[in-house]
Amino acid sequence: MGKFLVISEVRDGELRNVSFENIAAARQIDENGEVVAAVLGDGDLESLGQELIQYGADRAVVVQHENLKNYTSDGYVQAAMAVIEQEDPDGIVMGHTSEGKDLSPRIASKLDSGLISDVTQIEGSGDDVKFIRPIYSGKAFEKKVITNGKTFITIRPNNIAPPEKDESRSGDVQKVEVDVQNLRTVIQEVIRKASEGVDLSEANIIVAGGRGVKSAEGFDPLYELADALGGAVGASRGAADAGYCDYSLQIGQTGKVVTPDLYIAVGISGAIQHLAGMSNSKVIVAINKDPEANIFNVADYGIVGDLFEVVPALTEEIKAL
Ligand code: FAD
Repeated sequence: MGKFLVISEVRDGELRNVSFENIAAARQIDENGEVVAAVLGDGDLESLGQELIQYGADRAVVVQHENLKNYTSDGYVQAAMAVIEQEDPDGIVMGHTSEGKDLSPRIASKLDSGLISDVTQIEGSGDDVKFIRPIYSGKAFEKKVITNGKTFITIRPNNIAPPEKDESRSGDVQKVEVDVQNLRTVIQEVIRKASEGVDLSEANIIVAGGRGVKSAEGFDPLYELADALGGAVGASRGAADAGYCDYSLQIGQTGKVVTPDLYIAVGISGAIQHLAGMSNSKVIVAINKDPEANIFNVADYGIVGDLFEVVPALTEEIKAL
C-alpha cells in the first residue's frame, strides 16, 4: 500500500497512548509500508518525534507553532493539511478521540476522501485489509473495505495493542514550517477538573458508579477502589443526571466510549445506552443488589450484593495483595 501518515496526539507535553496504537494499526495494514508520524503542537516536539520512532515509526514530521498550543479545528487542519500535502500519504491513521472525531472529517472533506471512523479491529493486511467497526450503539459490527482513494481511518483507543518501545531505534525528525493563522477560535486557558487523574478513554481499569451509589459521597468508596487498582472512575448517566458526579465521567451512547481491560460496574442497571459505551471492555464485573439487573447479561463476573459492603471489602483485599 505504501506510505502511512499517523497523526499523533499530545496532552500536557506528552504523547497520548493512542499515538502509539496508530503506529501499530498502520503496521498491521501494511507491514512493509513506510510509517511517518506527525506531531502538531507547541514546545519541544522533536523529542516526541524521536519517541514515536522508538515506538516503530520510520521517521517523524513536526509542526511547531504557538497557535497549536491547544487544539483548535482551524489551527490543526492547517497544520495537518501542510503535512499531508508534503508527504502525500497513501493512508492516514488517527485516534477516534475528541480531537480525532473533530479533525478527521474536516481533513477528509478537504481531500475529497472517504473515512472509516471508530475502527476497533483490523482484519487481514495489504490489499485484503478489512476494517471492523461497531454500529447501532455496539449491537452489531460492520466490516468495511476501501476500494479507491486514501486509506483514511480513525481507531478507537485501547483496541489495538501499541508496539513495544525500542529505545535503540532512532530516525529522522523533520520540521515542517506552517504559519498557523486566521483562527476563528482561540483557547485562552484550559481549566482541568482536579478529579481528572487517569484519562477515562485510555484507562485500563475503570470503576463506574450508577444511581445505586445514591449520593456524591457514595462515590468515595469507588474512588478508593479505583486508586487501589490504578484505574479511573466513570459513571452512568443516571448518576450524572442525579448530580452525584460530573458529566465528564459519563460512559455510554451520549457519553464516552471506553474499552478497558477491566470494567467494574457498581450500582448500574445496564441500560442499552450505557452498554453502548462499555460492552466491548475485555472483562466486565458487575456489582448490583438486584440479581435480575441487565448488567449481569454482559458481565463476565457478577457479585449480587450491597455495593456499600462489597466495594470496601474488595478494596481491602486488593490493598492486601
Ligand atoms: P438505574 O437504572 O436506576 O440503576 C441503578 C441500579 O443500582 C439498579 O440496578 C439497582 O439494583 C442498583 N442498586 C441500587 N442500590 C444498590 C446497592 N446498595 N448496591 C448494589 N446495587 C444497587 N445512560 C448512560 O449510562 N450513558 C449514556 O450515555 C446514556 N445515554 C442515553 C441517551 C438517551 C437518548 C437516553 C434516552 C438515555 C440515555 N441513558 C444513558 C440513560 C439510560 O437509559 C439509563 O436511564 C441509565 O443508564 C440508568 O443509569 P443507572 O444504571 O445508574 O440507574
